[in-house]
Amino acid sequence: EQLIHQIAAGEVIERPASVLKELIENSLDAGAKRIEVDIEEGGVRLCRVRDDGSGIERGELALALSRHATSKIVTIDDLERVGTLGFRGEALPSIASVSRIQLISRTPDSPMGYKVGADNGRVSELEPAAHPVGTTVEVRDLFFNVPARRKFLRTERTETGHILRMVERLALSRFETAFVLRAGRRVLGDYPAAAARHEQERRVAQIVGDEFIANALYLEHESAGCKLRGWLCQPTFARAQPDLQHFYLNGRMLRDRLVASAIRLGYRDVIFHGRHPAFVLFMGIDPRQVDVNAHPAKLEVRFRDGRHVHDFLFRSVERVMRDTFA
Ligand code: ADP
Ligand code: MG
Repeated sequence: EQLIHQIAAGEVIERPASVLKELIENSLDAGAKRIEVDIEEGGVRLCRVRDDGSGIERGELALALSRHATSKIVTIDDLERVGTLGFRGEALPSIASVSRIQLISRTPDSPMGYKVGADNGRVSELEPAAHPVGTTVEVRDLFFNVPARRKFLRTERTETGHILRMVERLALSRFETAFVLRAGRRVLGDYPAAAARHEQERRVAQIVGDEFIANALYLEHESAGCKLRGWLCQPTFARAQPDLQHFYLNGRMLRDRLVASAIRLGYRDVIFHGRHPAFVLFMGIDPRQVDVNAHPAKLEVRFRDGRHVHDFLFRSVERVMRDTFA
C-alpha cells in the first residue's frame, strides 16, 4: 500500500515547489491572512509553511495525513461547486509518504495546539504543543525514501528558483494575504497584504516587474456571468517568453490556450511577431461552468462553454484597447 501511495504521490509531488504549492493552497483554504514559508537546501532538506488560518481540529490532525480521509467531496454535485483550492484530500498523505512530515495546529476555540508527525507514511501519536491559532507544516528530507525521485532533483539554486516562482504565482492570486519566503536567513520575497489598488500594483510590480506595471492598462469588466479584472500590457510591451502571462480563474492559477488566444485576439490588429502580450488577470465565473478535475496538477480546466468564455475575454480586452486608443 505504501508503494501505491508513493506512485500516486509522484503525479502531484515532483519537487519541493510542488510540496509548497499544496501546503500554501491549504493555508489559503484555511483563510490565512499571513503565510510564512521557510526553506533549506532548495526545499529538499526543509519546507515549512506557517499560517494564521482556522487550524485543524485535534480529532482531524492524524486524519489529515491519511489518504482520502478528509476528502471534501461527498457527491457529484459537490464536485461541481467546490470553492476551495484543495478537495481530494490527497496532498498531505502523498507528501507524508515521501518525506518526514510534522503538523502542528491550533483552532481558535482550543486553549492549546497539538502536533502529529509521520515518517515514511507511519503516523505518530498526537501530542500537545504550544502554537498560536493556525497551522505549521514542516516537510523534511523530501524523497529520502525514493532515491529514483531524488535523483531528478536539480541544484539548490534551480529548486529555489522553482519555489520562488511558485510562491510569486500564489502571492499574485491573493492580494489580501501577506506572504514571506525565506531561505535560511535570506528573505527571497516579502509581500505585505495589499487592499488598495496602488498596494496591489506594488505587489504586481514586485513580481512581474516595474516595467510591466508602468506600461499596464487597468481593466475591469463584467458581463453575462463572467467577471474580469487586472492589468494588461500596452500593445508595445511584449516578450519572447510567455511567462509574463498570469491568469487566475476563481483564485486558481491557470495556463490555458483558449485564454491566451482570446486575449491576444482582443488586441485586434496588433501583430506580436512571435512575442506574447503580458498580463495579470483575474476572472470570476460560476464554478459550475468549470471542471477543474481535467488535470491532476490543476493548472488546466475544462470550460462547459468555451465559446462563451473566449468571446467574453476577447471582448473585454478589445474594449480596453478601443477605450484607450480610439
Ligand atoms: P485537500 O486540500 O485536498 O482537502 P490535503 O491533503 O491538502 O487535502 O489536506 C487535508 C486536510 O487537512 C484539508 O482538507 C484540511 O481540512 C486540513 N488542512 C491541511 N492544511 C491545513 C491548514 N494549513 N490549515 C487548516 N487545515 C488544513
Ligand atoms: Mg490541499
